[in-house]
Amino acid sequence: MGVPVSELHKFVFEGLPVRGAIVRLTDAWQEVLRRRAANSATGAYPLPVQTMLGEMLAAATLMQSNIKFDGALILQIFGNGPVPVAVAEVGPDLGLRGAATINGPVPPDGDLGTLVNVNGHGRCAITLDPRTRHPGQQPYQGVVPLADADQVKFTRVSEMLAHYMLQSEQLETCLVLAADANLAAGLLIQRLPGQGAGNLSGRTISREDDGDEEVEDAYRRIALLASSLKQEELLTLDVDTILRRLFWQEALQRFEPLVGSQGPHFACSCSRERVARMILGLGQAEADAILAERGDIEVTCEFCAAQYRFDAVDAAQVFTHASQLAPGSSTPH
Ligand SMILES: [Zn+2]
Repeated sequence: MGVPVSELHKFVFEGLPVRGAIVRLTDAWQEVLRRRAANSATGAYPLPVQTMLGEMLAAATLMQSNIKFDGALILQIFGNGPVPVAVAEVGPDLGLRGAATINGPVPPDGDLGTLVNVNGHGRCAITLDPRTRHPGQQPYQGVVPLADADQVKFTRVSEMLAHYMLQSEQLETCLVLAADANLAAGLLIQRLPGQGAGNLSGRTISREDDGDEEVEDAYRRIALLASSLKQEELLTLDVDTILRRLFWQEALQRFEPLVGSQGPHFACSCSRERVARMILGLGQAEADAILAERGDIEVTCEFCAAQYRFDAVDAAQVFTHASQLAPGSSTPH
């Protein structure tokens, strides 16, 4: 039996400004792990890092599926722990990739606080990077701390993101996330914005339903039901069963699930040209020093483990044709 394909299910609660989605990353997630394990320079992720990155990828897929935006959603956390950086990136076609950098021993029971945010200055950034960028256009980015207003560190990715959505996007969100070696999964429930101020989705918000107690009560009830879902259940139950168990009393309108080429799938956007651009960024002196020491410049993609090798002739060409690689050229980034 092959690996089941990854799937994304979206739904709305009829008559209520509340939407939801469930993602199950199976083959896409296993591909992320397989490629990492095959990278001889890094080896496989330690368990706590695997859990954190899987949850980030599930969450980034849910968030990408909720916005109307032609570009990549990049969820990044950084701090000073044994995992200084972790990145989950999901394209508009739900192509996804992710990677975590490990720098030092990973505690076996490590969580977001002890892996990333040891000194309390850790951050979470969400970037929307448009597929085609006009000259001078900056990608949208929102940044929040990895701790709440009382400096209490978040231990879970779901906690951190619910806080992010509320603080940075004014969106009330309930998230349940879980990941193991076979599956990265998530449930998202979100109260829909109305008209007014702009936010992550480029949409405008004005809580028209503010003060509407019925809507408030309904959202509270649905969020409470959603948060009763255990991680173990998310990892073992199929989507129909989860929705039936949680929301059997609610009027759900479900949409056609996104699977296969329409659904979440592994995809890496690295290329030889991008690596060439990086070598250009090093400068000729640095590049020559590496060539003198090692004979060639070898770069392994941290996301997909693809290897790019530039010998002295290749490297010389990079600098000769520098103008064609200059930043701001039309190549997709
Ligand atoms: Zn790659």
